[in-house]
Amino acid sequence: MIEMQDVWKTYPNGAHALQGVSVKIDRNEFVYVVGPSGAGKSTFMKLMYREETPTKGQISVNGFNLGKLKQRKIPLLRRNIGVIFQDFRLLPKLTAYDNVAFAMEVIETPRKLMKKRVMEVLDLVGLQSKAGRYPEQMSGGEQQRIAIARAIVNNPAVIIADEPTGNLDPETSYGIMQLLDEINFRGTTIIMATHNRDIVNSMRRRVLAIEDGMIVRDQIRGEYGYEF
Ligand code: ADP
Ligand code: ADP
Repeated sequence: MIEMQDVWKTYPNGAHALQGVSVKIDRNEFVYVVGPSGAGKSTFMKLMYREETPTKGQISVNGFNLGKLKQRKIPLLRRNIGVIFQDFRLLPKLTAYDNVAFAMEVIETPRKLMKKRVMEVLDLVGLQSKAGRYPEQMSGGEQQRIAIARAIVNNPAVIIADEPTGNLDPETSYGIMQLLDEINFRGTTIIMATHNRDIVNSMRRRVLAIEDGMIVRDQIRGEYGYEF
């Protein structure tokens, strides 16, 4: 499903963000990416949805060879990947409904299909009743649920989440994790960077630890393993 072979990333400022990363992630896995700030976690994930390109090495995601991917094929790749951020990144001038619908509009979904599917995913995240609210009228947890609805609305094969619970209190974080667990159960591969030790230690999924741009630990039913 996702494979990296000896991937290196050096930013133009000289920062060596990744230094020889090789990894395989199978369909339907749930993978936590842990490690200190600045270790390379975000870069690792940005390479998967081609927000960044590697300095060296091979990356394939869901059958796409990213090294050979033409610029005009990037939207096709992104359709297969849903991305979730710590700061939600909803469009502030759009309602919850329209934030989700927007993701379908950009791939030119017929309007009739769109309405049904948007309400279906809003239901899945438990927020159908708040479809007409604007982001500022919702709590952080609700905004993240809308962001998750937006990420899954086009049925991506993979969800990439960069510290999705980083701005949320423990109880709200737990709800978000249950939702991601459900989405994974329904057949979506999930890769999630996190500093949330309690979540990693309670879910017992695969853990990749990145330090100094290298994978230093890869456990099948892993644990968080840091004091911070
Ligand atoms: P993490 O997500 O683990 O905090 P990052 O992937 O964000 O790590 O960063 C890894 C290294 O690359 C750090 O040294 C960081 O400063 C550097 N870095 C990240 N993004 C950029 C960028 N856009 N330009 C230059 N350096 C960057
Ligand atoms: P537009 O006016 O952009 O052509 P609609 O008539 O579908 O689109 O939607 C008008 C507004 O009503 C939108 O801003 C959207 O937030 C809200 N909306 C649309 N469909 C629903 C729905 N099924 N449930 C709740 N709100 C909806």
